[in-house]
Amino acid sequence: MVLNLYDTMTRELREVFPMDENSVRFYGCGPTVYGPAHIGNFRTFVLQDVFRRVLETSGQQTFHVRNLTDVDDKTIRQSQEQGTKLKDFTEKWTARFQKDCELLNLLTPHAEPSAVGHIPEQISLIEKLIEGGKAYRANDGSVYFKVDAFPEYGRLSRLADREITTSNNVREISDEYDRGSAADFALWKARRPEDGDNFWESPWGEGRPGWHIECSAMSMKYLGESFDLHSGGVDLIFPHHENEIAQSEGVTGKTFARHWFHIAHLMVEGQKMSKSLRNLYTLEDLFGKGYKEQEVRYVLLSGSYRQPLNFTFDSMQASRKALSKLTDFAKKFGIEPSSSSTLETEFGPFYPVQEALLSDLNTPEALGRWFRLVREMGEARDRGEFDGNVEELEMLRKGFQATCDALGLIIKVKEEVVEEVPKEIHELAQNRWEAKLNKDWTAADQIRENLLQKGWAVKDSKDGFELAKA
Ligand code: AMP
Ligand code: ZN
Repeated sequence: MVLNLYDTMTRELREVFPMDENSVRFYGCGPTVYGPAHIGNFRTFVLQDVFRRVLETSGQQTFHVRNLTDVDDKTIRQSQEQGTKLKDFTEKWTARFQKDCELLNLLTPHAEPSAVGHIPEQISLIEKLIEGGKAYRANDGSVYFKVDAFPEYGRLSRLADREITTSNNVREISDEYDRGSAADFALWKARRPEDGDNFWESPWGEGRPGWHIECSAMSMKYLGESFDLHSGGVDLIFPHHENEIAQSEGVTGKTFARHWFHIAHLMVEGQKMSKSLRNLYTLEDLFGKGYKEQEVRYVLLSGSYRQPLNFTFDSMQASRKALSKLTDFAKKFGIEPSSSSTLETEFGPFYPVQEALLSDLNTPEALGRWFRLVREMGEARDRGEFDGNVEELEMLRKGFQATCDALGLIIKVKEEVVEEVPKEIHELAQNRWEAKLNKDWTAADQIRENLLQKGWAVKDSKDGFELAKA
């Protein structure tokens, strides 16, 4: 069983396999920890998670590295504005990111290195680039990669096709790049007053690393000079990943990543996500609107990762319905899916779902097939045609579990029981509330007693009351 996945470098479907014949070693560019991640970011992280889950539910081991970008223009600027130390600021947002990942049922990476924790490794790469004539120190103490010294530059993004010329005189100092500008890019940024006390010593003076070198240093440290796959959202193809290739191969002379996996962007209600359009939803925003984490995950899986996906609140409703159908199926067959991180590998009757996933992580097709199977089996059971002996039921249970595990969906069959409040009790509580509003404390106390005798406790909240079984 192999996973065939589109490779941005070669523009074709290629088999994913471990170079060391043991585990697929891969790197996903992690979040910039300067605020809460939005659901667009999570589309990318969820798809990377499914990539790993599909491999693992096929019996393939993985080694997954996802970094934390905790020093760049944005983290420095925001922490300065808030008068907080960079470390405290980024730790807060890292904890929030990890919590959100847990809510979305993302598997924890095997390594989660941070850029600040790997400054010496970055300095060492820059030194090697300078020694090899591929980088130079500018007058202000910044160091730039010499794009002209790396003839392969542009291979990933096919930059040459866009007839963009490079020039040593054009320098991209910002991490917040203008897409489409091919320029010598900063490996090391000389200390500036606005950096505050966020600087490190280096052979070129005080300063801090550029964003791109962080990922080259961390990926090669944890995965080796050559590894199986590198991933991120499509916006990272250029210049981030192009620059990572140039820096890394510029030092090692070896192929950096053998396979490039990029996820198309999430749009919201047909528009690009942006702060000014106020459509950058976080998980918290969606929970505040009454949606559940699994519903968000389901929506993020509902489109092919190679196409932009349009997020709408109608699609959230549809995902709620879809999940409840899966819950009904599980109940009908007495299945209680678990949410443990031990992934089931026997798909049994749900093999067609696995097949769709192994075919370029086709999640919409996989979901479609899952529903078809669930409907057919459910109908057969209703007609009395599925008597299911113990073994068959066990195969069904395992297959359903493997499907949940591959997609990372948790199907809960035991809902929290919400106690129905009888009309008479509700009316009594309402009368008590009105008595309270009229400051008739005696009547209010009497009704409370009466409710207790009937087995109900009433509790006041800010703007009303709550009833619970006493
Ligand atoms: P950042 O925190 O900005 O460094 O981004 C983290 C990840 O989210 C990167 O892999 C980005 O490519 C990805 N990303 C950013 N915006 C979107 C979006 N709208 N849809 C999908 N992925 C995104
Ligand atoms: Zn990166």
